[in-house]
Amino acid sequence: MEHPRAGKHYPRSVGEFQAWFRTDADCLDYLEWLRWPAGFVCPGCGRAGGWRLADGRFMCSGCGARSSVTAGTIFDRTRTPLTVWFTACWLFASGKDGISALSLKRTLEIGSYQTAWAMLQRLRAVLVRPGRERLAGIVEVDETYFGGEEPGLSGGRAKGKKVLVGIAVEIGQPQGLGRCRMAPLADASAASLHAFVTAHVEPGTRVISDGWQGYRGLEKLGYVHERRSQRAARARGEDPGGLLPAVHRVAALAKRWLLGTHQGAVDGAHLAGYLNEFVFRFNRRRSRSRGMLFYRLLDLAVAHDPVRYRDLIARPQPGATPHAPPGARGHPPSLERPPANRPWRAADRDSSG
Ligand SMILES: [Zn+2]
Repeated sequence: MEHPRAGKHYPRSVGEFQAWFRTDADCLDYLEWLRWPAGFVCPGCGRAGGWRLADGRFMCSGCGARSSVTAGTIFDRTRTPLTVWFTACWLFASGKDGISALSLKRTLEIGSYQTAWAMLQRLRAVLVRPGRERLAGIVEVDETYFGGEEPGLSGGRAKGKKVLVGIAVEIGQPQGLGRCRMAPLADASAASLHAFVTAHVEPGTRVISDGWQGYRGLEKLGYVHERRSQRAARARGEDPGGLLPAVHRVAALAKRWLLGTHQGAVDGAHLAGYLNEFVFRFNRRRSRSRGMLFYRLLDLAVAHDPVRYRDLIARPQPGATPHAPPGARGHPPSLERPPANRPWRAADRDSSG
């Protein structure tokens, strides 16, 4: 597909958003276009081509399985109407700092805080794209504690559990910050820190850390390791806190965001989801259009099918015949619908624009 464009592939404004997504059918059609831009592809057997059934689902022309565009996505088997989901996605994406569960509950008049919170947590779960690129160039790595205070049941504040979090930040060249990654760590051992670095930083990268022994051995893993000793900094009369300015700046931003937008109401067990959201926002902070984030979010949401899809790839069903790649099997039965009021559909046909 051509590069996604405002007004064609995603709404430019809240007015456009409201005009595009009046009904659940509008939302379903948009998800269908995102998931199967070249027409229906069976999630079961991977073949292209099928029929639309009267209930809106599809039947695969290969294996006969029935599926819907939301099957296996975060929108599957939810009682929340798609229009409400889409509004939540719009608020999540269009707000510079996102939206808290309490604000979402009030804005959408959702019955319970739990429902609103669960919707946001589901959105956070899709933000990490499988196989995304690791950080590269020059990367600062450090670890820091998050949390320690949680709202108590009686409304007061109870001492919560602190969670150790690994942070990696690209140093921009000639200056500024690049992308970042964050993840909870079990501890500050070499095993935990090495696993964090290899998961998030490309081998060959120049990794800058403090003098902590847990970072020893990164050279053997293929990194160019630069250690900055706090003791040496103190001996030189420098502030040891200034050794890793990029990670400290990003950690401070993340903590401020948790305290501001979410009033710090994040428990340790769910911190990973919030960190995903912070990283998603931080890495797209220069994005000109908030509507683009809405598009990215829904694109990730319909592609998010980790368990079932990966299972199918890893263990093909016995006796299954090899499949031709989608699109190489001739013309699938037409699933076109009139493009009325659906600019993203019209955009497909107008590839010259
Ligand atoms: Zn099939």
